[in-house]
Amino acid sequence: MKTFTSADDLQQVLREEKSNQKSIGYVATMGFLHEGHATLLEEARKENDIVALSIFVNPLQFGPNEDFETYPRDRERDENIASNAGVDYLFYPTVQEMYGEEPSVKVVVQSRTDCLCGRQRPGHFDGVATVLTKFFNIILPDRAYFGKKDAQQVAVIDGLIQDFNFPIQLVAVDTVREEDGLAKSSRNVYLSDQERKEAKELYQSLLKAKEAVESGERNPSSVTAMVREHIEDHTNGVIDYIEVYQYPELKPLETLSGNIIIAIAVKFKHARLIDNITLNIE
Ligand code: AMP
Repeated sequence: MKTFTSADDLQQVLREEKSNQKSIGYVATMGFLHEGHATLLEEARKENDIVALSIFVNPLQFGPNEDFETYPRDRERDENIASNAGVDYLFYPTVQEMYGEEPSVKVVVQSRTDCLCGRQRPGHFDGVATVLTKFFNIILPDRAYFGKKDAQQVAVIDGLIQDFNFPIQLVAVDTVREEDGLAKSSRNVYLSDQERKEAKELYQSLLKAKEAVESGERNPSSVTAMVREHIEDHTNGVIDYIEVYQYPELKPLETLSGNIIIAIAVKFKHARLIDNITLNIE
């Protein structure tokens, strides 16, 4: 594995790889790698000649009162995991390298953001789309792998790739979970023991909703009420949102049908957790 901190150097090497007809699979992360990230890397490894990974805690996607400063970072550990996962090129830029000069352009996401995390975190997806536009141009991937845990992010990136004509195939990978169902996340380390026990109830609430929908429930409000009740009864977390939409359009529904997403965000003392399930209703 070769590690680069310079965008120009990495771009040059990857251009050479491409001119030798090598396909490039790309995984974007903020580091503190876990099995969720490793699964994206595995998928990329299977389908491409070259695997590129970026690790960058992107200040543009954090709000003023969010956890940019305290987001967990561990370069040495990440480099080991990346190398074991078969990464060929690791891009580990500094904030200065990515945004050194006062940027003159940013990407503004115009749809699929007025709900879920987009509503709770204004500007977040503009930051994601801006940094990915840079990474896509630096890395020139054939395929880019993203986790369905961040389902709104997948919907936004789908729009970015289409609207800006990036010649990139978006691959969405299923959420990797702990044994008790909690979605793996770099932020799980900030849960207290008690919160960690409660956190499994997020997925349990989604499974309960899934069961209800599979048994014929078609009213979105009943589904969100059921999820709310479960989370309130089983955790001390503060609910940020519980929402149900068409997916990936993220449009509201009066009656559940077609592809839908049930998505939740819950705040614990030092960690805000998100999770979702998507269902296809015939
Ligand atoms: P992050 O480092 O949190 O920005 O995540 C980097 C990528 O890994 C994103 O595409 C995430 O959706 C994905 N990811 C994070 N957690 C998981 C998980 N538990 N299962 C699958 N993908 C994940």
